[in-house]
Amino acid sequence: MSQIFAITNQKGGVGKTTTAVNLPASLVAMKRKVLVVDLDPQGNATMGSGIDKNDLALSAYDVLTGKCDCEEAIVKTEHSGYDLLPANGDLTAAEVELLEMKMKEHRLQYALAEVKQRYDYIFIDCPPSLNMLTVNALTAANFTFIPMQCEYYALEGLAALLETIGQIQKVVNPNLKIGGLLRTMYDPRNTLTNDVSDQLKAHFGDQLYSAVIPRNVRLAEAPSFGLPALQFDKSSRGAMAYLALAGEFIRRNEGELADTSLIKEHE
Ligand code: ADP
Ligand code: MG
Repeated sequence: MSQIFAITNQKGGVGKTTTAVNLPASLVAMKRKVLVVDLDPQGNATMGSGIDKNDLALSAYDVLTGKCDCEEAIVKTEHSGYDLLPANGDLTAAEVELLEMKMKEHRLQYALAEVKQRYDYIFIDCPPSLNMLTVNALTAANFTFIPMQCEYYALEGLAALLETIGQIQKVVNPNLKIGGLLRTMYDPRNTLTNDVSDQLKAHFGDQLYSAVIPRNVRLAEAPSFGLPALQFDKSSRGAMAYLALAGEFIRRNEGELADTSLIKEHE
């Protein structure tokens, strides 16, 4: 059964898009079928997947506003191995157009229902704000997946996000659950990192992933080549960290006995 994860945090620059590209690429290496939905008008997940956002025939904008079916707009990524519903600046217009539409919170949910059965996992890369696009993502999702940096203001931002999740649960998606918190750009030598990390453990217990993503320059370089770190430099610490994350992700979502072996070329 397919599961939909909205990668959210209204703070920008915490590693949402990096996670939206690298976790799926690692899951594909473990033989899972994955769709990535770019729901950020910046189109960073699109570019990072090797698809030119300035050259899209159809995009998430057309899907949300009912101009085409979801499957018509989905493209195959050449190197990353997952399918992509791409996005570009047009999505900014969808934010406004959606406000006038019937069932405006449910547009993405209905669109994904058409294609959902083909995938094991669907990840939605959300914009860094709590607008109608993010509401659509949280309405469509079974789970939120929350990347965060272990810094002081991170906890403040998290409180706002939890409040939004509570609202969504009340109004449009009572089944929405927190599907995990991920520590990104993690530096264990930093005292603040450890303090915030301890607080996260105390507050969120099991929801906090054990796998952490270190700061690694290869993760920052890979997007400009349109590649996940696994394809750009598979022995980098960043690529390894996202593989470990994918292993934990599968064990958590499919049970301890789930097969997390890699397909040959990545062994
Ligand atoms: P968001 O989508 O939350 O705004 P991004 O994933 O785009 O965040 O990350 C913000 C910036 O930090 C990008 O330039 C990205 O390449 C870089 N970055 C993200 N994660 C890491 C990491 N673990 N190590 C080094 N750079 C990272
Ligand atoms: Mg982003």
